[in-house]
Amino acid sequence: MKEKVFVFAALPYVNNSLHLGHIAGAYLPYDVFRRFLKLTGYDVIATSGSDEHGTPITVTSIREGIPPEAIVEKFHKINLEIFNSMSIEFDAYIETSSKLHKEITTKFLKKLMEKGYIYEAEMTQPFCVKENIFLADRYVKGTCPHCGFESATGDQCENCGRPLEPNELINPICIFDQTAPEFRKTKHLFFKLSALQEDLLKYIDSKLNWRQNVLNFSKNFISKGLKDRPITRDLNWGVEVPFPGYEDKRIYVWFEALIGYLTGVSSVLGSQEGALTLWQDNDIKYYHFIGKDNIAFHSIIWPAMLLAHGNMTLPYNVAANEFLNYKGEKFSKSRGKGFSMLKLLEKYDSEFLRFGVLYNLPEEHDSDFSIEEFENRVNTELIDKFGNFVNRALILAFKKGAVSSDQIAQNELDQDAENTIRKSISTIISEVEGLHIRNAFRSWLDLAYYGNGYITNRKTWEACKKDDANCNAAIYTGVKLVYALAVSGQIFLPKTTKKILSWLGYEEPVEIKEDLNFPVAKLVTKPERLFEKIVNKELNLQLRIAKVEEINDHPNAEKLYLLDLDLGDSKRRIVSGIKNSYSKESLRGKKIVVVTNLKSANIRGETSNGMLLAAEDENGIHLVFAPDSANTGDAVKIGDMQTNSTEISIEEFRKFNIKTAKRDSDIVPALYLEDRPLFLEIQHGRLKLDGSPREGLSVK
Ligand SMILES: [Zn+2]
Ligand SMILES: [Zn+2]
Repeated sequence: MKEKVFVFAALPYVNNSLHLGHIAGAYLPYDVFRRFLKLTGYDVIATSGSDEHGTPITVTSIREGIPPEAIVEKFHKINLEIFNSMSIEFDAYIETSSKLHKEITTKFLKKLMEKGYIYEAEMTQPFCVKENIFLADRYVKGTCPHCGFESATGDQCENCGRPLEPNELINPICIFDQTAPEFRKTKHLFFKLSALQEDLLKYIDSKLNWRQNVLNFSKNFISKGLKDRPITRDLNWGVEVPFPGYEDKRIYVWFEALIGYLTGVSSVLGSQEGALTLWQDNDIKYYHFIGKDNIAFHSIIWPAMLLAHGNMTLPYNVAANEFLNYKGEKFSKSRGKGFSMLKLLEKYDSEFLRFGVLYNLPEEHDSDFSIEEFENRVNTELIDKFGNFVNRALILAFKKGAVSSDQIAQNELDQDAENTIRKSISTIISEVEGLHIRNAFRSWLDLAYYGNGYITNRKTWEACKKDDANCNAAIYTGVKLVYALAVSGQIFLPKTTKKILSWLGYEEPVEIKEDLNFPVAKLVTKPERLFEKIVNKELNLQLRIAKVEEINDHPNAEKLYLLDLDLGDSKRRIVSGIKNSYSKESLRGKKIVVVTNLKSANIRGETSNGMLLAAEDENGIHLVFAPDSANTGDAVKIGDMQTNSTEISIEEFRKFNIKTAKRDSDIVPALYLEDRPLFLEIQHGRLKLDGSPREGLSVK
């Protein structure tokens, strides 16, 4: 019988959609590992789900005036679509607001209560006097006492990863009205974490195979002494507490979200009892894939809950990844940075994104991601090396027809290729088993580079002109290299490798093992090109931020102003027809967005060197203002386009499909290219734009 293994990916909060940092931190390594186990003969149950409770969601709900149910439903769906596009698969993807999860959580809590690990106590909680409510931890912000990070929330410091209590924050404030909260007494249930200190230390000490970052963090965390933790909150969004007197409180989200793993397995098996039985089996191994800000919950608190429950096997490994940084800054949706997966998937093939993330997987250390490097690597490594090699090897084979391993006369290059295949696959297997997925991926890529070199050195074309046995050997070995790459690459690039395997006649997934059984190199269909290169369009349009210095009436025209603008490195004058909508005083000192590469024009005797962006509707003209914080002269970024400054005529300018959009009270410009809106990003400003325009307005 196949050995059973669970693989879990952390449950993401659904207050927003996933960004690339999430994919790198948990879900892609999870998926690679899950695929690996399935393809090396394990019986895998792999789950995750939406963490639908908790204050990240209520914060969004309060801020945007949308019920939490609607937020949760929206982002649950979006995230599932993202996973689907990225070929990241689950046997169950649960929702923590489901009936099943509430039922399992309630049973779990009652069990802990029975065993004496839950008790009631009074605690002080921040209370907002202005709003007359107790503030959940995330409703309070302040400075982290450990690392000095200024935007730590009352539950955890995003910077150093340490869990926090609201009263530990230095200078706490209510996030809704910025008032300092009072700390008042309220009754809650507590989990006796302190009682498990010794058992947990023993558990962590036994984990010699864990990643060093996880071990260090966990040991350090325990050595500071474990404190009992409240498991209920004064909040109305969450799983109900199954005890009288707690009607107005809910179970704290960390407690119930962790139980989501049990819900996941129960959901796959269709049986809560079945899940518990498996979990109680001492031989069951299971893995958690998480970001490093989640270590304490998975290496200490979740095992503690399982110990308290009794008769439950603890996690076999906790694979916490470090952060993927974008130009040195952490990807973070809460701080408004990072790349939304929706946007990336609009532009890039999902296999490219898997490739780009795996190449830079932040396993032991934070790693950097840049779009320029990513695009370049996809074009020069994935496409030029891997893609080309596959193509060259297979086209030859297609022309030749079937070549079987017994028709060949291998020379030393072929023998070397055979050895390299065996060594590479063996390395990939041992690296993935050791949870070094990035190394495994790099070994796989090395095999592709090797193949590319092989086909050049082997001079297969020449060989096939003369000696048939030699030609057969070269073709067979080339295709075997492709086959080896396709088989071992199933875990990394599932769509690409599936296509290659099907050309070779394999419609089902192929088991990954060191000794590949590959008797016949034969193509059932003509191979196509695997990838299209990423081509970046260059836009001949330059927009910059200009400061209005002086405004004068046009001497010969009633509706026109002469605007003198500062561009930082230069000054220029433009003639603009906005006199009826803006007074001189309202414009002086303001920062506006100007087209700076327009040919100059003579407008009623005055020279105009550019054009400002504005929109017109029934209420008049609206200028596109840049925030005061924007730097004078800065280029306005246009989506991910490269821009250049070649001079253009007004006719050429009008070909750009520029519309403006209304967002809240601001008018913002949006550029349409092939019907895809690209918002203009004003750098260094606080104008952060995404989504689609609400109202199309015409450019003035
Ligand atoms: Zn408040
Ligand atoms: Zn900190």
